Amino acid sequence: MLTVNAYAAPSATEPLVKTTIERRDLGPNDVLIEIAYSGICHSDIHTVRGDWGPQQYPLTVGHEIVGTVTEVGSDVTLHQVGDRVGVGCMVNSCRECENCLAGQQQYCLKGNTGTYASVDRDGTITQGGYSTHVVVVEDFVLRVPESIPFEKAAPLLCAGITTYSPLSHWNAGPGKRVAVVGLGGLGHMAVKIAHAMGAEVTVLSQTLSKKDDGLKLGADHYYATKDEATFRDLKNSFDLIINTVSAVIDLDAYLSLLALDGTMVNVGAPGQALPLHVFTLFGNRRSFAGSGIGSIGETQEMLDFCAEHGIAPETELISADYINEAYERVLNSDVRYRFVIDASTFA
Ligand SMILES: [Zn+2]
Ligand SMILES: [Zn+2]
Repeated sequence: MLTVNAYAAPSATEPLVKTTIERRDLGPNDVLIEIAYSGICHSDIHTVRGDWGPQQYPLTVGHEIVGTVTEVGSDVTLHQVGDRVGVGCMVNSCRECENCLAGQQQYCLKGNTGTYASVDRDGTITQGGYSTHVVVVEDFVLRVPESIPFEKAAPLLCAGITTYSPLSHWNAGPGKRVAVVGLGGLGHMAVKIAHAMGAEVTVLSQTLSKKDDGLKLGADHYYATKDEATFRDLKNSFDLIINTVSAVIDLDAYLSLLALDGTMVNVGAPGQALPLHVFTLFGNRRSFAGSGIGSIGETQEMLDFCAEHGIAPETELISADYINEAYERVLNSDVRYRFVIDASTFA
């Protein structure tokens, strides 16, 4: 066992504190990563606070991890000591089910092993990236291209892939009209990626307060959803809508913005059921879909795509002692657009 410095939540209601956690001894297929940067995802906050179900504490979260390989197991072939690597939302899957065999580990029928708060193969609870080191099986470790600034790369491992996957699957590209609902951590990545794919990008945000940012990030158009004229003017006008908002929205109103054969994909995860009139789907043969992170292969494809197109998240670098304050700011949507923790400050 390797004892490493980390930040952990002692309970659902207490602030995160500095502590140590154990990492398993390196197995033949494992790599040891010295973490350089760790992103703060809204899911981290939901999880530590028990919003998505009870947890075992103390709990270390974090699933946007980049770092350097410092040791490899005897059978490792995919990575070498010194490599720049990343770890996202999952660290293993069953490898046998229909979906795993199809290379879609995120949809493992037995449930993928989450990077934190998940039961690992050895029965322990996985602990995430708010720490100095992590041990991960080699084929769930991604290569981070040199041209992506390391201090900005971490959010690609969740926010990046969560938006890249549906944009890629539903063929965002030249001639496609893509709307992004919400300009937060996920939304700002969706705008950058959809723009780089060549799509015509529209941001639908509650107000116009981030309009200048949105246009700079690559949006062609920007509308306020608080303005009723928006839903009238944009009726039947999008091929794809990526909804990054986790709150309950008027689904029928948004679906009515889809053109013939258009699809609205939810990547935001509201806690309540969303009401929907099926008649809204009949018009224009519309689809309503969901999408969860992305496969390991697709995550590597996304990282290479971002390197090729010079895309990196907009980030605010913080030290570990600022995590609790950062959480409050995330909850108040007061971050442009992702916090990244300097992992040297976990020590
Ligand atoms: Zn996340
Ligand atoms: Zn599986």
